[in-house]
Amino acid sequence: MFQRILVANRGEIALRVIRACRDLGIEVVAVFSEADRGAPYLELADQAICIGPANSAESYLKIPRIMSAAEVGNVQAIHPGFGFLSENAHFAEVCRACKIEFIGPSEDAMRRLGNKNEARKLAVKAGVPVVPGSEGLITSESQALGVAHDMGYPVLVKAAAGGGGRGMRVARDDASLKTGLVAAQQEAEAAFKDGSVYIEKYIERPRHIEIQLLGDKHGNFVHLFERDCSLQRRHQKLVEESAATNLPAEVRQRICDAAVRLAKEAGYYNAGTCEFLLDKDNNFYFIEVNARIQVEHPVTELVTGVDLIRQQILIAAGEKLPFKQKDLHHRGHAIECRINAEDPANNFRATPGLITRWQAPGGLGVRLDTHACQGYRVPPNYDSMVAKLLVHQPTRLEAIACMKRALREFVIEGIKTTIPIHLDIMSHPAFISGNVDTTFIERTWSRP
Ligand code: ADP
Repeated sequence: MFQRILVANRGEIALRVIRACRDLGIEVVAVFSEADRGAPYLELADQAICIGPANSAESYLKIPRIMSAAEVGNVQAIHPGFGFLSENAHFAEVCRACKIEFIGPSEDAMRRLGNKNEARKLAVKAGVPVVPGSEGLITSESQALGVAHDMGYPVLVKAAAGGGGRGMRVARDDASLKTGLVAAQQEAEAAFKDGSVYIEKYIERPRHIEIQLLGDKHGNFVHLFERDCSLQRRHQKLVEESAATNLPAEVRQRICDAAVRLAKEAGYYNAGTCEFLLDKDNNFYFIEVNARIQVEHPVTELVTGVDLIRQQILIAAGEKLPFKQKDLHHRGHAIECRINAEDPANNFRATPGLITRWQAPGGLGVRLDTHACQGYRVPPNYDSMVAKLLVHQPTRLEAIACMKRALREFVIEGIKTTIPIHLDIMSHPAFISGNVDTTFIERTWSRP
């Protein structure tokens, strides 16, 4: 087992990993940029090392700086968290070349799944349904038009290297396809240094259902059921829950089986998530694998009782999964609301700044994952998420009631947050009846 682990991340997920290490009796080294200097969560690590300026390209994304910190900190493993270097196969390779275990899948599996177009091919091979789309990458406008005409509009132009909802454009006719193609390519080139795109049929008003997976290095594999992440804004998740509402047991089983099949085909181990879209007739289509831990992983922890970060660490250390599929049970209903430093009344403009008052909610079945507190200054340089508020209750309606209560208890002053829109969502009849899809937020709260 590892004696000392480095967390190559910041904020809430860094703290989450620090806690898992503490629970396992493992020492932990945190890293921080100048913008995060003095952040309270850093005090909970055994050592905290500055890795550069606020700009993440020069700190949290700078592999030589992270490796130097690993050397100075004398660690045996690195947990990448999510975002930043978590899905960077080259980083995983560098870690292992330096005899430091990367807590995640093999670099081969990451490469096979990291490119969405390659992952699609693998899914087809594993007999997993994919969204109908172009055979491969799109290299010209005329090819794009040909594919769109064959499939019929609407279509979605998607960056092969995409993530975080970037590099995606819906096209409903030739004109919007031509502009969308260029826009998606440019956005992907800027964000991922890879402008390659492909085209998928745009599924109208789908639900987003994803399956949590865990596999060890000995070929044992389980799924930990689904999360419904249909509540999104600009393809970014706002609310996640498990179980998915109105999902027939037989469809759920088939989705879980498909996810496991695909991961096995990819030679996957450690934690990962297989994402699907579900159309209104309950047909499901694979969209991508996230080869890392996800923001919304605590939803699954609540309904299964499995500590996913702990399992990630144990798997990386070469241990066998301590349970089999039949040992895993889904209990009750969990919901997560992402509390972001954004102003929903002002088109979700980011609202970094000083938190002057912070009163956290609590009580039975309430979990708050956050690195923020009173007096904490949310830096303007990174993701705007300041907290994940979760509830776990026997039924969905009880979970919604509990979430409303917890959201009302939660006082954050000094910065605007997404708490008000979460309260609106929890009170909306469509949400309460489970009648929502990925376009619900924009249809319901878009400004005229
Ligand atoms: P990213 O990696 O940027 O998160 P995903 O491929 O996971 O991108 O897609 C994110 C979201 O975009 C999905 O949850 C869904 O809302 C939407 N989306 C993706 N593909 C399609 C599609 N073919 N049809 C309709 N919506 C889609």
